[in-house]
Amino acid sequence: MEVFVIRGMSNSYLTSDGVLIDAGVKASDVMRIAREHGIDVKYLFITHYHVDHIRYAHDIVKAFNCKVVASIPDSGVVEGREKPRSAGALQSLIFAIMRVKPVSVDVKVNDGDIIGGYRAVYAPGHTPGSTAYYKDGLLFTGDAVVEHGGKPALPPRSFTLDMDEAVRSFNKLLSLKPRVIYPGHGNPITLGT
Ligand SMILES: [Zn+2]
Repeated sequence: MEVFVIRGMSNSYLTSDGVLIDAGVKASDVMRIAREHGIDVKYLFITHYHVDHIRYAHDIVKAFNCKVVASIPDSGVVEGREKPRSAGALQSLIFAIMRVKPVSVDVKVNDGDIIGGYRAVYAPGHTPGSTAYYKDGLLFTGDAVVEHGGKPALPPRSFTLDMDEAVRSFNKLLSLKPRVIYPGHGNPITLGT
């Protein structure tokens, strides 16, 4: 499986098996890479409800007619039925300024569900339903694990709802012993073979 990094408000990843992880990049940028590599985008996996990860979800669904996948706890915000729980004033302001068009979630995943060959791994703390997606040693973490200095790092405290829970989730994800971590921010981290 090949993974293409698309950079925007957050990292999005397009895999050669037709999965786009997160929607922080414009549909046109996804389209260009999908065309270049002949990829049929079947799924949009959402790691969590933060604006920088779902901003372009509506456009992307329109462009590709792909199925949206998100965790049960974060689906309410993604679908616009619930207000996001904010970790602080700065974040509230960002949510207020950045209006995001909601999308309906076609597949609401539970911890451990397999979808399109990927395992959904709940990693709460950063948001109530933060979720990583795992396949063949590759782990897409959203902000549950970010990259700092080439190493796995915790999400920033000021944007994280429950730091203790985030630490437990961080350890849970690393215990999967992924070969490569694809974080929501920073560079992919290669841990082993
Ligand atoms: Zn986030």
